[in-house]
Amino acid sequence: MSITISSAFDAGNIRVISQSGDTVELEIVTDHLSDFYQWFHFRLAGAGGREVTLKITNCGKSAYPDGWPGYQACMSLDREDWVRVPGTSFADGTLTIRFTPETDCVWLAYFAPYSMERHHDLVSTVAALPGVDYRILGQTLDGQDIDCLTIGEGELTVWLYARQHPGESMAEWWMEGALEKLVDSDDPVSRVLRRDCTFHIVPNMNPDGSRRGHLRTNAAGTNLNREWHNPSAEKSPEVLYVRNAMDEEPPLFAMDIHGDEAIPANFLAGFEGIPSLTERQSELFKLFSNTLERVSPDFQTRQGYEIPPKGQANMSMSTTQLAERFGAVSMTLEMPFKDNGDLPDEIYGWSPERSKYLAGACLDALHAILPELRDYAAVRGKKVEVAA
Ligand code: ZN
Repeated sequence: MSITISSAFDAGNIRVISQSGDTVELEIVTDHLSDFYQWFHFRLAGAGGREVTLKITNCGKSAYPDGWPGYQACMSLDREDWVRVPGTSFADGTLTIRFTPETDCVWLAYFAPYSMERHHDLVSTVAALPGVDYRILGQTLDGQDIDCLTIGEGELTVWLYARQHPGESMAEWWMEGALEKLVDSDDPVSRVLRRDCTFHIVPNMNPDGSRRGHLRTNAAGTNLNREWHNPSAEKSPEVLYVRNAMDEEPPLFAMDIHGDEAIPANFLAGFEGIPSLTERQSELFKLFSNTLERVSPDFQTRQGYEIPPKGQANMSMSTTQLAERFGAVSMTLEMPFKDNGDLPDEIYGWSPERSKYLAGACLDALHAILPELRDYAAVRGKKVEVAA
């Protein structure tokens, strides 16, 4: 049997350039109407028991070239268990994956995929539970629904949303963990969170990019996390619908869930550069961050993005826009494509399971800062009224 590589499925992405025996040259395809690319996901058939060499030759010009050194590809036999391929190396712009597939049908991806089918399973399962409200916020350019789940009946409004960047699939694994914890009626933290907060949860903000196998954009090639100051129905309906829903129920606390290609750590990015920054708002972000660091050995505060000076925030991003618009304690959570270098796992690297545990830790940390958030809600209420 000769080698066959295919990607014509949900979130598939690869192009075969040439094939010589058991060596295949490949390229990652750019997002539709965009220059971004880094996400790959394909099936390798017919190579069971033979050593194969897969060369992805256009990695040097991908969106984040720093993502490749120290990176190991993800591989699965059953599409459930995704392990790292130790024989992954990067040199001269080419990512080489050398390994011997155990079977004639194996799957490779940049990170364990989170398919739209799994998304629908998750949303439907949670929506069917008592105390959960489901609604559609709007439709994407490809005609998919933007799903939103509402859980809890407290006064503190929390928004959790993920996968603005569709190739960052760990973000939806995080969502699965957050939802499983929040609906666990035996979990005391979740019981208090549901009593004191109302959660609006958008597990996937970019279904079109997810299904198309994009790294960073929607069906129109728009980077959704650069649209929050001025979303449009033509270019970024996903942001328009979610932001409109937030205008109706302004977040006090919000988390935007992402993955980072280069940095081998979990970290948060805040809103330090917004024009209207207050000390209290800033303190609460730090309090959450420090609490999460104490709660989870997979989270740290040493590594992260550079903090912009006051007044120089990029207001097109959701975290800064929500902090400015609503006085929200908002943040971007970044999880690694590689691993947490402080607590590495040789077999799995950073993984779906670890993303889910981190979501649980985030909810534990949120619970721990509820008294301070409650105090802040009174102050913040005035700011929202003034803005309106
Ligand atoms: Zn991202």
